[in-house]
Amino acid sequence: MNFKELGLCPEILQAIEDLGYEDATPIQIKAIPAILKGRDMVGSAQTGTGKTAAFALPALHRLAKPGGCRALALAPTRELAIQIEENFRKYGKYLGLKMALLYGGVKYGKQLEELGNKPDIIVATPGRLLDHIQQGNLSLGKIEILILDEVDRMLDMGFVEDVTKIINKTPRSRQTLLFSATIPDAVVRLSKWALDNPAEAKIDIKISAAETVSHALYPVPAIQKFDLLVALLNNIKFESLIIFFQTRRGTDKISHWLTEHGQDVRVLHSDLKQRDRMSALQDFKDGKVKILSATDVASRGLDISNVTHVINYDVPQHAEDYIHRIGRTGRARTEGEAFTLCKPEELPLVESVEKLLGNPLPRKFVDDFAYREAPESLVPTGAVVSKKRNRSFGKQVSFGSRKRR
Ligand code: AMP
Repeated sequence: MNFKELGLCPEILQAIEDLGYEDATPIQIKAIPAILKGRDMVGSAQTGTGKTAAFALPALHRLAKPGGCRALALAPTRELAIQIEENFRKYGKYLGLKMALLYGGVKYGKQLEELGNKPDIIVATPGRLLDHIQQGNLSLGKIEILILDEVDRMLDMGFVEDVTKIINKTPRSRQTLLFSATIPDAVVRLSKWALDNPAEAKIDIKISAAETVSHALYPVPAIQKFDLLVALLNNIKFESLIIFFQTRRGTDKISHWLTEHGQDVRVLHSDLKQRDRMSALQDFKDGKVKILSATDVASRGLDISNVTHVINYDVPQHAEDYIHRIGRTGRARTEGEAFTLCKPEELPLVESVEKLLGNPLPRKFVDDFAYREAPESLVPTGAVVSKKRNRSFGKQVSFGSRKRR
């Protein structure tokens, strides 16, 4: 389906044409008509499905002309807020609407300037938005469209009170659009409270990752994890690779060791200054550095294209995070590989991931690596995978055997 058929105005259609989008994606086909009609919406879709355009295009269409602060998009992380704002700018470039981007960790100057220009659209993270409201820099009294993006993440990060406060400061007559990769009970509760008879658009795991990512689990004794990582990096041909870690400390420590082993690595986690986060991400996106070490801050929402490999140094604590992490690779139909290093203690976490996927992760071993214990016995295959495949995730994740690069 093309965008004209969805009923978007000419200025937006021109911007979409400039970007070279040809057809609307499934989430856009489902969401745009309902949002244009003014309906509230619960969209369950992850990044990579085109979900930002699914809410930004109809929101821009409904705002149409400059007229004061009428739309607010909330995002859990600064990086995601930046990305959403960039998209609003691109899609709305022929509409003359003004934007303000508000997030923490940076000075207030530029943000105050943007607020002083009477923006039509605010994109913000919750904490800094509340700071601005408390300081009297803006009011949400005229908000017509409220967008809550990556809500599951927002709640995981402990923003529930802030988000509730913010929602309470917007008019009840608003249109509310809630997007979340997963819909756990807390998200259901929030949507029941904040939304009015919402339309629903559900898109399961991003198809491109499913079709093009191959997965492998590398069992290894705990003490040899770092050595195995080095061996893997030496064995594979990668253009751009993200290594995910559970903790900020782990990210720093292992990245430091990798640097000592001659690898060029940049680090992305939430303890860093915003300036450093942005420059790490930019260098990685520009291809100046091939390896990005990150905590889950980077696993959600970020549209980083052309990542050829993802390595999970730790098995994710929450099975859903596995999906989000591997979602960084195999985008836009390029092939990707997702490797997970696993010490025996992490077996229960592997089992949760396999349950969610509905498939065992194929075990692989690095040839010529001097394992201290026979790796075959460390993490048994597919211990508790249910026979019934998980309908929301497993059916679209392919595990076909592929030749090694
Ligand atoms: P998102 O899921 O919003 O992060 O979007 C993922 C990527 O898909 C972004 O780089 C968008 O620019 C791109 N995109 C969104 N909608 C379309 C479309 N209809 N056709 C082609 N690319 C798109």
